[in-house]
Amino acid sequence: MTPMLRPALRPTRRRFIQAGLVAGGLAAAGSRAADLAPGRAALAFRPGLPVPGWQAELRARLRQVLGVPERTGGPLQPRVDPHRETADYTMHRIGFTAEPGEEVPGWLLQPKAARGPLPVMICLQGHSPGMHISIGEARNEAERKSIAGGRDLALQAVAQGWAALVIEQRAFGERAKPGVKCNDAALFALHQGRPLTGQRVFDVMRAIDFVATQPGLDANRIGCIGNSTGGTVSFYAACVEPRIALAVVSCSFCTFEDSWLSIPHCACGYLPGIVPVADMPDLAGLVAPRRLLIVAGREDNLARIAGVERGYRHAREIFAAAGVADRVRLVVGEGGHQFYPREAWPVIGEMAREW
Ligand SMILES: [Zn+2]
Repeated sequence: MTPMLRPALRPTRRRFIQAGLVAGGLAAAGSRAADLAPGRAALAFRPGLPVPGWQAELRARLRQVLGVPERTGGPLQPRVDPHRETADYTMHRIGFTAEPGEEVPGWLLQPKAARGPLPVMICLQGHSPGMHISIGEARNEAERKSIAGGRDLALQAVAQGWAALVIEQRAFGERAKPGVKCNDAALFALHQGRPLTGQRVFDVMRAIDFVATQPGLDANRIGCIGNSTGGTVSFYAACVEPRIALAVVSCSFCTFEDSWLSIPHCACGYLPGIVPVADMPDLAGLVAPRRLLIVAGREDNLARIAGVERGYRHAREIFAAAGVADRVRLVVGEGGHQFYPREAWPVIGEMAREW
């Protein structure tokens, strides 16, 4: 994990993070118990609010909670090396520097049949042994079962004509430190005042910087997809990063009441101080007028379907207020906590065709 407030951070970035810490602390200190109840969030969307002004205020607060800057920068040092190819796609090993001390490894899959510049789907794994799940590589029976739950996202994306950019998320797979589980890495990060989810969001922002360096990729047509933790990071990334044109958020969107506040999750997804600011369905409104596809499992035991559907209705109200009601969609699979490729990809195709 990257230590916070270390000397290597640029002064502007250091000031930004410190400002976020102060704002978060003051918000917590000034809150009453009644203000923390679901539905009482300070920046919840209410009918009649002018959407752009409300979005700007909420997005700035969310950036503080996540600990991410408005804009990225710094040496990226993109690396692209041929790895192998199949009859249908080429595969490159890629890498870039997210920030000093944080090297992000990944894979770039590009369909041979399509002609560029290609739309790009950034693929994020959920809780798993690592990004090799996204490219369909199982190392044991448990991983084969995981992939059978629709988690080989990059293979799905490239089969649909997208360039698939896979990145390893912090504290997972190749970026896990020996003997340190993501739950522990998350707690260390919380103590440093920079939540792991925010650090993962920052890596997605840097992945978009990487896309912009590749002439065969279309930086104006970028999607981000993930299941579970991958969906959570896709969601928050789309909330704060306007370069994401479409977010596909699987088994992770819900009211906080029906997921994070009543069903224990791994520490790596918790965001200190988010509840008094806004509920997840409010935050969904930050994606408008861009596109958001929510994928849910009717039997998902980490995000109750009642909360998903209630949250979707609220998100749709905000998108309607922004004049783009149909740019948020909900797809429900008849199963548990997994991705639903057969149900989701036709809708992704529809939404992307509107670009
Ligand atoms: Zn975790």
